[in-house]
Amino acid sequence: MAANRPLVAGNWKMNGLAAALAELKALQERLAEHPAPEADIMVFPPATLLAQARYALRGSDILLGAQDCHIAASGAHTGDLSAEMLADVGASAVIVGHSERRADHAETDALVKAKASAAHRAGLTAIVCIGETAEERRDGAALEVVGRQLKGSLPDRARASDTVIAYEPVWAIGTGLTPTPEDVAEMHGFIRRELGLLAESAEAWALRILYGGSVKPGNAGELLSVPNVDGALVGGASLKAADFYAIASIYAGNTRRR
Ligand code: PEP
Repeated sequence: MAANRPLVAGNWKMNGLAAALAELKALQERLAEHPAPEADIMVFPPATLLAQARYALRGSDILLGAQDCHIAASGAHTGDLSAEMLADVGASAVIVGHSERRADHAETDALVKAKASAAHRAGLTAIVCIGETAEERRDGAALEVVGRQLKGSLPDRARASDTVIAYEPVWAIGTGLTPTPEDVAEMHGFIRRELGLLAESAEAWALRILYGGSVKPGNAGELLSVPNVDGALVGGASLKAADFYAIASIYAGNTRRR
């Protein structure tokens, strides 16, 4: 992945049987037929489909990622997958700290940081998710919460080439609700400044910061042209090749602004 390009990442979550691989083929066909967007395109199918997805994507520029990893490289952790296993099956990135895992599995910032470090150990890019709940935003605590999550979840020596931040307001995920472009600009600008302060490496300030939460073809243009938005983490709309391609097509011309 080139760190200076936008990234459009599709998180399939716990969706997709083998038949869903047809959507990957359809996505490949669209990318082949139309001018390729000036963005990295990455898909995160469920772990059960990674091996088949790798096969389906051979010869394609579409990158493969996984949705979670364990902190250990191997061992007695029934049902878990290590970052090394994900690299072995062809993933080049892994999502860590998605709000659904923070909520469903009580994942803490410290655990998310350890998972991001495990990703680096295995040579994977860590996509580190952070974002406030509706209540936290209502209480005026969004910046404070996101700042705390960023500080606690950012792996040591994060570099633009191995770490991506995904700002995903929890209340916007899967709800059809989105923040205003002004709110997105405020939050992404804040994250950018915080990265500059937290950075241990000179290039950490340049980490890509994705926006995630109800990104659809109809709102992608507005949300993704906000300064400091370096792409999108897309859930529901990534399940259909046509919608996901339409979102990535925002970058068909160079619309990136910082
Ligand atoms: C997500 O799960 O990361 C996400 C952003 O979901 P959705 O696009 O469906 O809101």
